[in-house]
Amino acid sequence: MLIFTLMKQKKQIVIFTDLDGSLLDKNTFEFDEIEDYFRELISIGIIIIPNSSKTEAELSDFNNQYNLNLSFIAENGSSIHGLNLIHKNLPKKIFLSRTSDEIYNVYNQKIPPKLKSKITFILNLKSNEQREIFGLPLEKMNLAIKRNYSLPIKFNGIEIEKNEFIKIINDSGLTVQTGGRIMNICDNVNKSKAMCKTIELINKEIDNEIISIGVGDNQNDIDMLKHSDYPCLVKNNSFDSALVNIDNLIKSSEPSPKGWADVIKTAIQKIKT
Ligand SMILES: [Mg+2]
Repeated sequence: MLIFTLMKQKKQIVIFTDLDGSLLDKNTFEFDEIEDYFRELISIGIIIIPNSSKTEAELSDFNNQYNLNLSFIAENGSSIHGLNLIHKNLPKKIFLSRTSDEIYNVYNQKIPPKLKSKITFILNLKSNEQREIFGLPLEKMNLAIKRNYSLPIKFNGIEIEKNEFIKIINDSGLTVQTGGRIMNICDNVNKSKAMCKTIELINKEIDNEIISIGVGDNQNDIDMLKHSDYPCLVKNNSFDSALVNIDNLIKSSEPSPKGWADVIKTAIQKIKT
């Protein structure tokens, strides 16, 4: 009887993945090279949830562009979208963050003028300057600036000032998230908390044991990797993987997108054995 019960316990693999530099090529933002493999994973029932600093608008565009219907986590864990696609009882949208106006008010009250003078709000720049920073074509950039929960900034000071700024932000109940190209002032959210919340919700609705695979390439992914069952790091030449202290870390020797497929194959192999 016990054996029978154990046999019934199937595993549901859920992949939480960063996009830029992890799944998508750093420069072209494409993943054509491994697209067949990616679709194969979905077709065998693996759930893939992009967990990105990108906005809801950008992630919806990603779904549309590739004709996908994935649930996703936007703006560094600020909001979770489309869990109803995984189970009908789950919500379509969850907010884990205050609005960007509320975040701005905290910033405005707490940051002293001498540090404020070192900060450029990217959304206040001219369109062509924004494009240079985001490194995106105009139509993609218009999706990137539709931010509901984060304030992208450029910090123009020295390291000591930057650390002082980050400390005040953290003491005020906010966070600074450093992703691929920009820094964002966010609420006290991160990719890891949103992943854990998502797992908790899915767990309530499905009987199978959830096995999480976390994939990232940068500092703002590390906490998510630490909290996933199978942490995967995709090679990123501008991020030193020696700084990552995770026991069972799976690392790729190639950058995205090839590196993404490599780490996932290794993780799935480990899960099977
Ligand atoms: Mg990345």
